[in-house]
Amino acid sequence: MDEGLEETEDGMEEYSRPLPRSEKKFMVLGHCMDHMKNKNEELVKKAMEEALPGMESLCLCAMCTEDIFALALNSIPAGYQHSMSIALFKKTAFEEIRKAVLEAAGKVKEKPKHA
Ligand SMILES: [Zn+2]
Repeated sequence: MDEGLEETEDGMEEYSRPLPRSEKKFMVLGHCMDHMKNKNEELVKKAMEEALPGMESLCLCAMCTEDIFALALNSIPAGYQHSMSIALFKKTAFEEIRKAVLEAAGKVKEKPKHA
């Protein structure tokens, strides 16, 4: 009999939920790691969408946007979180992430790859 997969009433506990086979892509030692996400990706995306559209003479083509995303993410510590544990991940302050995004945007603005 299976147990442990029912949702708890308070919603605080998380159990490992197997993903459908078709979604299993990135395997480490036979275990699927697709659920491991760098939480900072979401925060960088949010900061970029808030701060960049208003920036003067900043190119936001796919190449430059990708560049800024990569530069910003590489300049802050990765924020990986074990999906089956609670609160191990200490969030990088959003203000720090905003700063990283603006710095990255400045660099790309100075030297866009497509010149
Ligand atoms: Zn561009």
